[in-house]
Amino acid sequence: MRIISADYIHTGHGKVLKDTAVVINEEGKIVEIKGFSNFDAGQVEKLHGHLIPGLVNTHCHLELSHMKGKVATGTSLIPFISNVVSFRDMPQDLILQAIKDGDEYMYENGIVAVGDISNKADTKEQKEKSKIAYYTFVEMFDFLQDEWAGNEFEKYHQVYLEQARSGNNKVSAVPHAPYTVSPSLFKKINALNTDQATVSIHNQETPPENELFLTGNGQFQDFYKGFNIPLDKFKANGKTSIHYAIEHMDPKQRTLFVHNTLTTDKDIAAANAWSENVYWATCPNANLYIENRLPNYQYFIDANAKLTIGTDSLTSNWQLSVWEEMKTINRYQSYVDFSTLLQWATLNGAKALGMGKDLGSIEVGKTPGLNLVELDVNEKDGSSFTLNPSSTIKRIA
Ligand SMILES: [Zn+2]
Repeated sequence: MRIISADYIHTGHGKVLKDTAVVINEEGKIVEIKGFSNFDAGQVEKLHGHLIPGLVNTHCHLELSHMKGKVATGTSLIPFISNVVSFRDMPQDLILQAIKDGDEYMYENGIVAVGDISNKADTKEQKEKSKIAYYTFVEMFDFLQDEWAGNEFEKYHQVYLEQARSGNNKVSAVPHAPYTVSPSLFKKINALNTDQATVSIHNQETPPENELFLTGNGQFQDFYKGFNIPLDKFKANGKTSIHYAIEHMDPKQRTLFVHNTLTTDKDIAAANAWSENVYWATCPNANLYIENRLPNYQYFIDANAKLTIGTDSLTSNWQLSVWEEMKTINRYQSYVDFSTLLQWATLNGAKALGMGKDLGSIEVGKTPGLNLVELDVNEKDGSSFTLNPSSTIKRIA
């Protein structure tokens, strides 16, 4: 048993507690939350700063961790993808070491659960022994070619079967993005998953993506030509790309739309009307790295949309830290208050991964992990808090 107290305890669902202690058992499960005065002061670990729940990273590609610093920033998405493809070949031992380092870095930086895109089974071994809970999204694509769907599905189904099956890793099949998945492949992916699954899809990350679906033209036409893949059967539906996704995905499954840098209030309304199980993963550092822009979070806040936070991969980020993502949002769009930001980074993420029962908030019965952080406290009211660029995070439990 440990009895832990801090100047402030932020529960992750909007409450801030003072003069309070959290009692956790050997497994880190919270067995009691009570006033500090109920305990013998000598038994309490009294910490200075702010206690927050473990963070949830809803979008990562751990298997790309060896790519750190290799791809140029600010190129926009299409040149970025071409760049990534050219760096795929690396000695396997370096790839595995980078995966191990990435997993351990995330744990040390307060992350308790990760939604992780996998195109291979390279992360299997690390996930089997990791202290982090994973949801592995085995990603499939067929470059919009219906007639390739069968073969591509079989190829990635094999990868799906090879993933870690321990209690700490869930697995589902997911479509890569609207501009790479045919209607036939969407059908096969939906059928492989259960209704309780979480799935994800990259969404509205770059202007040419919407352009392809709105007009049938733009840079994706050149991208496809560059790979000698025909798009003559593709028909633009005159709507933004998210409409194509929701037309072919299963509204019963929890769906994480990832990036959403171009997503408008109308797009959010369409997705929310389609399903109650919609979550939105934002990866601000990756958006700045690749496209040099951020989503308009006000649209999501106004629509009561459930935002979550992801780091994306080390191909497009300087570190795998949800805490650093929170700082970036605060730096560029500081109207998002700390309590809202914390809920995106904890409870919303845990729910998106179907792990809300155990993770995401400081509540009796949960095993959320505990982090000690530094924040600025507003002197006037003593109850509003802000991140600053040097705010640190330290894992406590
Ligand atoms: Zn991604």
